[in-house]
Amino acid sequence: MGKKDFAVTLKAHPSKEKKPEGKKSMKEAAGLKKRLVEIYTRLYEEYGFQKCFLNHESAFQLLVATILSAQCTDNTVNIVTEELFRHFSTPEEFAKAELSQIEHLVHKCGYYRAKARHIKEASIKICGEFDGRLPSTMEELITLPGVGRKTANVVLADAFGLPGLPVDTHVIRLSNLIGLVKTQDPVKIEEILCNAFPEERKGELGELSHLLIIHGRKCCVARRPACERCVIKELCRNCLCKEKKEKHHVPETKIP
Ligand code: SF4
Repeated sequence: MGKKDFAVTLKAHPSKEKKPEGKKSMKEAAGLKKRLVEIYTRLYEEYGFQKCFLNHESAFQLLVATILSAQCTDNTVNIVTEELFRHFSTPEEFAKAELSQIEHLVHKCGYYRAKARHIKEASIKICGEFDGRLPSTMEELITLPGVGRKTANVVLADAFGLPGLPVDTHVIRLSNLIGLVKTQDPVKIEEILCNAFPEERKGELGELSHLLIIHGRKCCVARRPACERCVIKELCRNCLCKEKKEKHHVPETKIP
């Protein structure tokens, strides 16, 4: 993928339009950037590189798996797609498939009627408008039925290796808990974290999402975060460790 494509993808992000920053906000932005990079570094050291949690052999298969993953575990999606992709694998095959057969194959994922319809309609559109090839820009991807920014970002980051930050429930919960953002709006969270991440490392945004997700599964679990053994406790605003509050100082950076 050439530099031009990167530029197009980045330009598509709404955050790029407005940036009134005085001296104070620039200092705050620098503080947030420093914290975010340190959090990324520590999580990467703890968990290592995280490959995409959804099994796939093509960008299109990842799109299908991501559509199926809404309100469904990755394990279930991987079980379902193993069988599904034996029957249909390409946009052409899904476009020609009977809707009832797709529904039958994906029913374990929940909301199977809507998901099957989205997969079939997206396949028809890919065949009709994109020569049977999955597009690789945010603007084009979100025109496909059933594809929002989160799904598009998964495909951009994990299939095309382009900048893209999928914001799922773990990323929403953790970024608020840690104190990186103060909003439940996934588009705003994407915008804040993307802006705070170093320009020259935007290609690692997908990995940032993976690391927050794995941390949310293995340590910062919703019911009882394991703050005592958390590798980012010194950087977290909501660490429950008493000793952390006494020993460490979390730099005050204003949350946008
Ligand atoms: S310190 Fe506690 S609340 Fe903060 S990220 Fe770690 S586990 Fe979660």
